[in-house]
Amino acid sequence: MIPRDQHVVSRKLISPNALKVISRLNSSGYDAFLVGGGVRDILLGGHPKDFDIATNAHPEQVHALFRNSRLIGRRFKLVHILFGREIIEVATFRGGAPEESKHQQQSDQGMLIRDNVYGTLEDDALRRDFTVNALYYSPRDFAVYDFLGAMDDIRKQNLRLIGAPETRYREDPVRMLRALRFKAKLGFSIEQKAEQAIRDHAELIENVAAARLFDEMVKLFVSGAGTEIFEDLVSFGLFDYLFPAVAYTLQNDQMKSFYRGFIIAGLKNTDTRVKADKPVTPAFLYAVLLWPEVERFWHQHMNEGIPEFPALQQAGQKAIQEQLAFISIPKRFSLMMKEIWEFQIRLKKTRGRSPQQLVQHKRFRAAYDFLLLRELAGQDLDGLGDWWTEFQKKHPAPPPSERHQNDPDNKPKRSRRPRNRKPRN
Ligand code: ATP
Ligand code: MG
Repeated sequence: MIPRDQHVVSRKLISPNALKVISRLNSSGYDAFLVGGGVRDILLGGHPKDFDIATNAHPEQVHALFRNSRLIGRRFKLVHILFGREIIEVATFRGGAPEESKHQQQSDQGMLIRDNVYGTLEDDALRRDFTVNALYYSPRDFAVYDFLGAMDDIRKQNLRLIGAPETRYREDPVRMLRALRFKAKLGFSIEQKAEQAIRDHAELIENVAAARLFDEMVKLFVSGAGTEIFEDLVSFGLFDYLFPAVAYTLQNDQMKSFYRGFIIAGLKNTDTRVKADKPVTPAFLYAVLLWPEVERFWHQHMNEGIPEFPALQQAGQKAIQEQLAFISIPKRFSLMMKEIWEFQIRLKKTRGRSPQQLVQHKRFRAAYDFLLLRELAGQDLDGLGDWWTEFQKKHPAPPPSERHQNDPDNKPKRSRRPRNRKPRN
């Protein structure tokens, strides 16, 4: 137990909503602590992006205390408490079961497919991934609780995995991705044996559900350190299992320097935007990451005699289809990716009225950025990027109210007054 005068965590730095949750749990007779990134980032002088709470109250008991809460997860039951846009995540202390039970199950690969065995605060610390994520703060006594020497790891900027690396990665292979994310984001180094175990067992990542991988990939690429993370994913051998087709192209001597440069330029662009608090969309990054595959199929189809535009459409569809076997991509993002790719042909039309219409399209900006990246990476497009840059200077986009009628982002809001409508068939 580290008393309040020996650490920098204070209530002023914690979300008032998280404090409210802890205080309500405490006054109902439960123990409750701030844990994870919320404590870690404050100790590092940063601003936590969310606040997680650990308690000895069971999920149903937490749910019963907060009207604005919902129970989530099967594999790992949690309670989300909603305060407007802020979500406070409350997890019950986990404990390791001595034998398999219906509350804890493992797959043949040793993966935890259910983990709802509850335990004490000390048990809970041992179930977490890295020591620096297993620090607890109590606003009741203002103390930080450290069972694993994590304060020392914070000082040494050391990511130490709790327990035997191989076992912990087998239980949940996403921990390998989390290791790379924290390494890049916090500037920490991963302890040697935990690092080696990623290289030795990268293939375990194949066991993770495609939908969960999508969420994790988004966290990696919008962390503001996407470039470093990409390099690490490649060098640790994880990229081969996440984007196998792209990884293959990146090994091709003729193509690797262009595509590597292109992907890195795209990631740098995103990192810069994240650091400047500008919005980023996973669709743009996925459009960048899959472009080597799109171009490969595109050229194939054109060689088969299919005209340029349908060849590109089919290539886009095929590249997405191929990738979906590994990481899912929600429909709204794949639609956006296809538009960005198809725009690479449409942007070649620089005559007539077409350019005026194109700049007003809701996907123009992303498609134009994509075009610039291709040129930046060394593709010779006959100065097309500059042409569009100049065109926009001469023809600034009209304010949104005067935008093109066909722009779906700009449809006038439907009036609330019910209209007479023909009944639908
Ligand atoms: P950030 O929120 O900045 O991404 P975080 O460490 O808070 O980082 P969360 O995903 O919010 O990460 O998880 C909260 C805490 O839950 C972690 O700090 C860790 O203690 C625990 N945790 C999360 N994912 C895992 C996992 N896969 N295995 C073990 N413990 C985990
Ligand atoms: Mg967190």
